[in-house]
Amino acid sequence: MADNRVVVYKGPGEVAVESIEYPKLELPEDVVSGLGIKRAAPHAVILKLVTSNICGSDQHMVRGRTTAAVGQTLGHEITGEIVEIGDDVLFHEVGDICSVPFNIACGRCRMCNEGKTGICLNVNPARAGAAYGYVDMGGWIGGQAEYVMVPFADFNLLKFPDRDQALEKILDLTMLSDIFPTGYHGAYTAGVTTGSTVYVAGAGPVGLAAAYSAQLLGAATVIVGDMNADRLEQAASFGCATADLSSGDALADIIADILGEPEVDAAIDAVGFEARGHGRDAAEQPATVLNDIMDVARAGASLGIPGLYVTGDPGAVDDAAKQGQIGVRLGLGWAKSHTFVTGQCPVKQYNRQLMNLILADKAHIADAVNAKAISLDEAPESYAAFDQGAATKYVIDPHGMVH
Ligand code: NAD
Ligand code: ZN
Ligand code: ZN
Repeated sequence: MADNRVVVYKGPGEVAVESIEYPKLELPEDVVSGLGIKRAAPHAVILKLVTSNICGSDQHMVRGRTTAAVGQTLGHEITGEIVEIGDDVLFHEVGDICSVPFNIACGRCRMCNEGKTGICLNVNPARAGAAYGYVDMGGWIGGQAEYVMVPFADFNLLKFPDRDQALEKILDLTMLSDIFPTGYHGAYTAGVTTGSTVYVAGAGPVGLAAAYSAQLLGAATVIVGDMNADRLEQAASFGCATADLSSGDALADIIADILGEPEVDAAIDAVGFEARGHGRDAAEQPATVLNDIMDVARAGASLGIPGLYVTGDPGAVDDAAKQGQIGVRLGLGWAKSHTFVTGQCPVKQYNRQLMNLILADKAHIADAVNAKAISLDEAPESYAAFDQGAATKYVIDPHGMVH
């Protein structure tokens, strides 16, 4: 029964919208066989997608920089309306509009009990942590689709209190599934507080969300670095200072020009392993951002590292990097007693409070990341534009519910 459509990875540089089965209240085969868990999922719901965003994390797969196989379904940034509900879902109803943390979590394991939902132990036989529509993340079907199944729904869903208000603010609320909490987590774990000076590497949606979150946390000055002029302009549009790394100038010198000293209190990596060296058209240097943030963060700083690093990269620059081993100058961070905070953002630790800020009209994250609604059929061209560095966060609106 091909009553659903989803964005699928078709090989390096290529995605397509394809028909697949309508979702069932069942766990994916990988999880059932790999972990020996019951297939039937009465704890799940089926959501009709309201929005599903394209993410830089998707691009790692689409660029052929992961071990994702052709046919991998995509989409982990999910906001939807409940259209079907399992018997064991006690606290949600058909018609609720909900944000879904991109991390799939059981709500029952040791990690979930500690709030560490990015490393749930019961949703992925390959490792701790899972996500929808992602390689090595448990085989869960992606949500850049018309419909998607969400397991452990009472634990995972964040219901918006009012339907009309939710649809009115949907371009802001759609960022709660990933980048707003992820950016906030980056800033928060970097120790940003009232009066901090902050460097954010990367002016993609996650970097912009981290910069915006640093402002929410009270930062005095937020400097965003990238080589992409349009994205730097986007950062400047909400009051950030910018570091144009295409200039080839040393980052510490750029920071000194802005702050009067070459260091910041807090630094965030919102780039990850596909980082490029400084200067126009510089080659890829996977450890460059990690080395930058150790260089410019003060002694004793904590480094927020939402930027993604992989255990296998078929397109890497050398053999070591193909196994995720990159040239990190750890001695520098060690000498400065830096703390590193890595991994998936535990979205549930932040999404409710950030929702409250949006609903109270105190956070305008859609403007900060330049959100743009598109149809499901426009996904392939939007993936291409995003890959080219568009200063836009694309929000797929499969049912025409966004106004
Ligand atoms: P993106 O690809 O749109 O943005 C990355 C930006 O980094 C680009 O604008 C690029 O020009 C810039 N860049 C490259 N090299 C740089 C350098 N040396 N210094 C400064 N900027 C540089 O991606 P995004 O959607 O903004 O996501 C950013 C990263 O965050 C990705 O690695 C993504 O996978 C990751 N991510 C992690 C989580 C998590 O939970 N930890 C969640 C979402 C995204
Ligand atoms: Zn994402
Ligand atoms: Zn769990």
